Amino acid sequence: MKKTSGKVFLVGAGPGDPDLLTLKGKRCLEEADVVFYDQLVNPQLLNHARGAELINVGKRAAKRGVDQRTIEALLVHYARQGKRVVRLKGGDPFVFGRGGEEAEALRRAGLLYEIVPGISSAIAAPAYAGMPVTHRACASSVAIVSGYRSSEAKSKVDWGALANGVDTLIILMGVKNLAHIMNCLLEAKCEPERPAAIVASATYPSQRTVTGTVGTIARLAARCLIHPPAVIVVGEVVRLGGQLNWYERLPFSQEFDHVALEKASVRSPGCEIVSERRI
Ligand code: SAH
Repeated sequence: MKKTSGKVFLVGAGPGDPDLLTLKGKRCLEEADVVFYDQLVNPQLLNHARGAELINVGKRAAKRGVDQRTIEALLVHYARQGKRVVRLKGGDPFVFGRGGEEAEALRRAGLLYEIVPGISSAIAAPAYAGMPVTHRACASSVAIVSGYRSSEAKSKVDWGALANGVDTLIILMGVKNLAHIMNCLLEAKCEPERPAAIVASATYPSQRTVTGTVGTIARLAARCLIHPPAVIVVGEVVRLGGQLNWYERLPFSQEFDHVALEKASVRSPGCEIVSERRI
């Protein structure tokens, strides 16, 4: 390790609600010289990094985002200049965040780094929709799965094994492939009546939860104009959301887009919006 080099902190920003940043993450931002942040990071968090250079490497920065190898090269470049670098990532850096690849690149470069875990949307989205991912009565196992179909990914998701092998399935990056994923589960003999939900923009004032079943959720999500980011939950725990959903009942409106929601409901009768915020 070079003594003169700086250090890189791979920091989880949490799912969106700015209060879900850890104290350690906040301190890293306050002390940072430079922050590289992603599209899914709530920009409000950047207020903690007043003294830092802020660099957007998310999808909005370039058409398809800054190439992963370029990001890694930038982290190495700035750390070698002796800077305290924060790589701020949505949720947790090691849950579908490519944090592992960045840590490997830093290790290869002989640089110091720390991992600061964050609250993953995989846990926070169901929690903010009142769905405990485990419950003694109905769920002893939970799997977090990618719903994104990529030719690059070395390991493919075994939907056949998951269909009846896990009590609660949490699917990230699955909105576009929702119909395909549900079909894979059905082909693997998953009950069409098994409860399923989709939680969009979780932990933001615009959070919306749509519930149905494995057989109906794709159609309902399309009707309700659900778009990413969203987390899909499959399993009995979805039923608890009907009673325990708390966040969407809070009496604040903020940026909540009621007009868009009304339009969606008008255009799509039968849309099962389990909960929406009351003003
Ligand atoms: N590292 C992140 C996941 C990155 S992959 C984490 O731990 O949360 C990106 C996926 O995360 C999105 O496609 C979506 O499935 C999920 N996601 C992230 N933020 C979300 C949010 N606020 N609401 C719903 N889903 C979210």
